[in-house]
Amino acid sequence: MRILAVAAHPDDLEILCGGTLARFVAEGHEVTMCHVSRGDRGSFIHTMDEIAAIRDGEAAAAARVIGAQHVSLGLSDGEVNSSDPKQKDLAIDLIRRTRPDVVITHHPSDYMPDHVEAGKLVEDASFVATLPLYQTAEPVHTTVAAVYYMDTLAGLGFSPTEYVDTSSVIDTKLAALAKHVSQVEWLRDHDGVDVLEQTRTVSAFRGFQAGTAYAEGFIPSLKWLRPRTKRLLP
Ligand SMILES: [Zn+2]
Repeated sequence: MRILAVAAHPDDLEILCGGTLARFVAEGHEVTMCHVSRGDRGSFIHTMDEIAAIRDGEAAAAARVIGAQHVSLGLSDGEVNSSDPKQKDLAIDLIRRTRPDVVITHHPSDYMPDHVEAGKLVEDASFVATLPLYQTAEPVHTTVAAVYYMDTLAGLGFSPTEYVDTSSVIDTKLAALAKHVSQVEWLRDHDGVDVLEQTRTVSAFRGFQAGTAYAEGFIPSLKWLRPRTKRLLP
């Protein structure tokens, strides 16, 4: 299968579904990680372009740890908008280039607008990308992808209905997240959070719920054309 994981910012995918992506790769599936925004407003010390370049390099290194491809839509933090026609077309072309069977993205109740808008942007695009008379630079995609919502930050307000055992890849997940050096520092200084410790804790909590050491939780989108009869997650 081809898996497209889409988050708002560099580091969100590593925190929320990095173990599952590593397991997809281990099973021979093709995984693309996309952060729609450049992460260009998360710094006290750099300019927007400086921090965006740093974070793009960090995301590329993290994707290499997981074994995934890495792309970005190049938007700016705080400006992700699923109603913006230009952003819609960027997302539609992302779908048409990567041709996913499965899309993983943010849950509609995640904690900040970029996350909510990125999730809506890609789920909407994954339908429109299949319409032959909606023409863009890329050829139409033939599959309305299954969509899975990944956990929210800190697991707040999110009750998973499917779990992936990430015990065998927890070190890979944390090693990928640790590549986001600028964000480990930013989250410590801006939010007082040790993101590596928080991520391990949520993984252990979801593992406790599912009877394993570590896990990640998901909820499938059950909108029409999205449900599948077979389990698609690892
Ligand atoms: Zn984020």
